[in-house]
Amino acid sequence: MRQAQVIATDKTANTKSQTMVQIGLSACLAGQKVRYNGGHTQSRLCLNVLSQYFSFHTFCPEVAAGFSTPRPAMRLIGNPTSPQLVFSNGGNEDLSAQLNQGVATILPKLDTLDGYILMKNSPSCGLERVKIYQQNGHPHTIRTAGLFTQALIKQYPLMPVEEEGRLHDDGLLDNFLLRVYAYSNFRREVLHAPSIHKLITFHGTYKYVLMAHNQKLSRYLGQLLNGNKKMPLANLVNNYFKVFMQALAKPADRNNHTNTLLHILGYIKKAVSSPARQHIVEVIYKYQQGLTPLTTPLALLTHYLDQYGSSYINAQRYLNPYPERLNPLTRHI
Ligand code: SF4
Repeated sequence: MRQAQVIATDKTANTKSQTMVQIGLSACLAGQKVRYNGGHTQSRLCLNVLSQYFSFHTFCPEVAAGFSTPRPAMRLIGNPTSPQLVFSNGGNEDLSAQLNQGVATILPKLDTLDGYILMKNSPSCGLERVKIYQQNGHPHTIRTAGLFTQALIKQYPLMPVEEEGRLHDDGLLDNFLLRVYAYSNFRREVLHAPSIHKLITFHGTYKYVLMAHNQKLSRYLGQLLNGNKKMPLANLVNNYFKVFMQALAKPADRNNHTNTLLHILGYIKKAVSSPARQHIVEVIYKYQQGLTPLTTPLALLTHYLDQYGSSYINAQRYLNPYPERLNPLTRHI
């Protein structure tokens, strides 16, 4: 029997949540008993930690598609480029159309979301390592995303998506938070009512984030805005957004962070004393060697930038890419 549940907004949401970024979440990670076995996979990381940043919107694609709870487990079979969803307990009835139709009506309503956190390994929600079984019962070496996730990424190719399990890695968590807020900021500050002025202002505040993540794409984006690649405003904005999110896709490495931190130090090198400057440089190189987390040189630099930095450098999102970067949540990045 088709169940009425489609997407559920956290009922504990309060006024604060309206100013928080809106994030989709596999319903079982929110503790809802929607798994095939009638259970859940509640995520303490999501509910106890990330709820400080995110207002969650929960969704179970399989329930939305009318599958009951409990239900037989499902898996993907067949050609890796177009796998089929079937029950694992025998029978090859293709359930893909039912799943896809079930999520088709909800997908357009997800345009308010700034990111999505998904349950790993699920044939519906998994992000990238979902097994596809061959006729002999063994999985292909090729893995894929679950069917809902494939449809989500197709509809919102730039939206940051991540598996909950990967967010237990401090570096991946930091990069997911950074991408979510970058995506949200671009949509609010540029896409909402685009202009070349807004685009240039946005780019200016992300200069050092881009430098740390991908210098090649950073230069490309600079050329776009300098008019070296002439195009109508709508195309320019769309092209910028696409390449911008691509540039942030992978976490910045220690060498690129080091280079960026040294550049930022350059803005205050004349204002701070020589011993203080030397101390900052030593801390930056300790970070490069893996002897201290990124938050240590960042906190030190921020201390001096608060006193001596210009409004331009203090407005750099690199220093504050999401709220409370310097809190203990990401102290190990
Ligand atoms: S992984 Fe996705 S489809 Fe499976 S129970 Fe969780 S929300 Fe539902």
